[in-house]
Amino acid sequence: AKSEGRNCYQLFVPSMSEQAQKQAYIQNQLRQILEHNQLEVHYQGQYSVEEDRFIGFEALVRWPQRDNQPRISPAQFIPIAEQSRLIYDLGQAVLIQACTVLQEWQESTHTRHLTLAVNLSAKQLNAHDFLDRLENILCRFTFPFTKLTFEITETAFLEHSECVTRTVNTLKAMGFSLALDDFGTGYSSLNYLQNLPFDIIKIDQCFIQRLGTCNKTWALVKAIITIADAFNMSIVAEGVESKKQLESVIALGCDKIQGYYYSTPIPKEQIDSLISSTTPA
Ligand code: C2E
Ligand code: CA
Ligand code: CA
Ligand code: CA
Repeated sequence: AKSEGRNCYQLFVPSMSEQAQKQAYIQNQLRQILEHNQLEVHYQGQYSVEEDRFIGFEALVRWPQRDNQPRISPAQFIPIAEQSRLIYDLGQAVLIQACTVLQEWQESTHTRHLTLAVNLSAKQLNAHDFLDRLENILCRFTFPFTKLTFEITETAFLEHSECVTRTVNTLKAMGFSLALDDFGTGYSSLNYLQNLPFDIIKIDQCFIQRLGTCNKTWALVKAIITIADAFNMSIVAEGVESKKQLESVIALGCDKIQGYYYSTPIPKEQIDSLISSTTPA
């Protein structure tokens, strides 16, 4: 037993240090990227089937593209940024870029209806100066606050929930739209719906993927949509990739769709041609 333990120990340590090295690398790179203002943001369309047009976009942060290397995914670098103060500067950089796009949309009639959603991490919401930083950015812009949506995941309320709840209520009072992100993947989703001022529920893509194969998922999504209707919240189905999935969510009564079926996340330069093309790719 003793020698087994030693083997485990020897296998375990190198892989841990490899992970720690990777983490340190990402942290250092990210610090430089932020210093040089090189962080990119892509935008993914949200389509209304009823209106037959894009009604908004979600801002998704992107690692800069460098000499044909693959970009590091936000699923990898966001959690690392959250372990340090880098998440604050990252969040600020994304928000400034997003607000700039939203401001540009106000100038033209074919983009003025669009909303823009920005993701907030729990750590940002917990920062004591979050609202001050936010107001410092927003005072440079004149778009109506109702055009800006903040996407917050359920897990943001697990820790320091009182502080987060207070901030979320303030955001609502200021006029922003609030979306509960990755709905159904957390622990007490229903409780949050009742007690927090969300306008939008985003059904997580794992439910959309299971729709075709699982009757229980069908019933679950139907129930979520019924609750959203009763609470006067709107629903966005995430991760809709296929025609079949699109037909399923429409049959369930969901009108707003975000997913590769209508659009992948794209740089802002491509938004105009996306919204002027009538048929999805
Ligand atoms: P999320 O907020 O749930 O964003 C949706 C993710 O699903 C995005 O991944 C998007 O590219 C992907 N997606 C959209 N449609 C489809 C589809 O049809 N099929 C599949 N397979 N995937 C689809 P992405 O951009 O890699 O972002 C991953 C996560 O990183 C986000 O999940 C969000 O939690 C976080 N994130 C991204 N940008 C930011 C940001 O600016 N701030 C913060 N705090 N988090 C961010
Ligand atoms: Ca999101
Ligand atoms: Ca999501
Ligand atoms: Ca997610």
